[in-house]
Amino acid sequence: MYSDTVNKLISQFEKLPGIGHKTAVRLAFYILEAPADVANEMAKTLVDAKEKVKFCSICYNLTEKDPCDICSDKKRDDTTICVVENVKDVIAMEKTHEYKGLYHVLHGAISPMNNISAGDIKIKELLSRLSDDKIKEVILATNPTVEGEATAMYISRLIKPLGISVTRIAHGIPVGGDLEYTDEITLIKALEGRREM
Ligand SMILES: [Zn+2]
Repeated sequence: MYSDTVNKLISQFEKLPGIGHKTAVRLAFYILEAPADVANEMAKTLVDAKEKVKFCSICYNLTEKDPCDICSDKKRDDTTICVVENVKDVIAMEKTHEYKGLYHVLHGAISPMNNISAGDIKIKELLSRLSDDKIKEVILATNPTVEGEATAMYISRLIKPLGISVTRIAHGIPVGGDLEYTDEITLIKALEGRREM
């Protein structure tokens, strides 16, 4: 129905999360009908963002400088690491203004169903951060889903023998829920009510 180039554009949009075929077509035609500047600016911004924004080599949060602002902030408590699944969870935790420690972003959770094993997420990198004696507590703030719980359990088994306190955030967060979509008060309560694993 469409030319090869248009089809290619549609299929690029279809790759984005939450975008079905119909929306992809709508977006493609928006771009095609818009002034050339719109497409140029968008393409430039995409390439720019991808070039400038990287993962912090310590915590794996997204950053434009390495180490990131959180890792290089001397005022933060560098004896505590809060382990989360995704970058957006860091933002959710930061919005509470309650947590002053460091983070570690796993970039996923262990999920045998989706073929994601411990080696596919940043667990090894977390363990290597614990090799100096600075860290006193690791807070496991993975999501309260089956995958999040399994990941927390797996990590706690690895860390406990190191003599570091391992805590799990409390379940103010609904089971099956997502840290990212949890309101700030619930997240503060979950953090305060964390328990030893
Ligand atoms: Zn960092």
